[in-house]
Amino acid sequence: LIKSNRKGFGAMPELPDVETFRRYLNSTAVHKKIEKVHVKDERILEETSAQSLGKLLHGRQLEETSRHGKFLFVKVGTKGWLILHFGMTGQLKYQKENKDEVRYARFILDFENEYQLIYCCKRMLGKVGFTEDWREYVEKLGLGPDALGENMDFERFSEIIGKSQTKLKSVLMDQSSIAGIGNVYSDEILFQSGIHPGKKASKLDKTSRKKLFKKMHEVLQAAIDFQVDEDRIPEHFLLAHRDTDQRCPRCDGKIRKETISGRSSYFCPKCQK
Ligand SMILES: [Zn+2]
Repeated sequence: LIKSNRKGFGAMPELPDVETFRRYLNSTAVHKKIEKVHVKDERILEETSAQSLGKLLHGRQLEETSRHGKFLFVKVGTKGWLILHFGMTGQLKYQKENKDEVRYARFILDFENEYQLIYCCKRMLGKVGFTEDWREYVEKLGLGPDALGENMDFERFSEIIGKSQTKLKSVLMDQSSIAGIGNVYSDEILFQSGIHPGKKASKLDKTSRKKLFKKMHEVLQAAIDFQVDEDRIPEHFLLAHRDTDQRCPRCDGKIRKETISGRSSYFCPKCQK
C-alpha cells in the first residue's frame, strides 16, 4: 500500500497525498487495458451505477491522470474521466491479481496483464464516479483554484485572503476558496509562516500574505517530494512533532492543541502570533 498512513497524524488525504496517488498511478496502472470492473460496494458510486461504470470502462485503457485539489481524475479511453475522491481513508493499491487480500476494497479494476488496481476506503466517505470533462465537474462542484495550480498566483491568493471574513485556518481549508488543503497541511503552512491559525484572514497585512503564499507552496511541494512518507518528514516540520514529542521544532516550547474552525489544530503559541 502506498504510504499515506501518517501514523497519528490522521490519514485524511490532502493535496500532497492525492498527488502522490496520481504519480503512483502514472507509474503503474496508466496505459493498461481494463479487462474487468468490480464494484464491491455501490455506496461509493457517485451519480453512476456499477453497470454503467462497467460499460464505460470495460476494454478501455487508462490514458492519463489529472488532479484538482483532493480530486484525482483518470482518463479512460476517449469517453471521459474516472473520478476518484479519497474521503477520509481512501487508498490505492496496484498489485498482481489475487496476491494479497486487501481490506476495505470497494472498487477494483482488473487489467489484461493480470494486475489489478484496488481502491480501498475503510470509512465510506470516498467517491468513485465518471465525468466527460473533469474541468466542468470541478466547476460544477464550486471548487476554488488548486493550491499549487497555475491559476493560484499571489494576486488571486491575496484577494481570497483579503476578502475572507473567517479565521485563516478556515479559509485555507475551504475547498471553494482554495482546493487541496485540509486540517494537517493548514496547520503546517501556518506554523511555517509563524501565523496563528485563529487570526482573522482579512487582518493579514501584505507582507504576511506573501509569506503565507510562499509557505503554502513550500510545504505542499515538500510533502509531495517526501511522498507523504512519515519517516521522511523534515525535522523542522510541525508534522514531525505534533503527535510525538509535542515540542516546537523552532523554540522547543510545548505545542498546543485547540479546536479552531471546528477541527483539532496544532500550533506553537510562542512562534505563531
Ligand atoms: Zn515555537
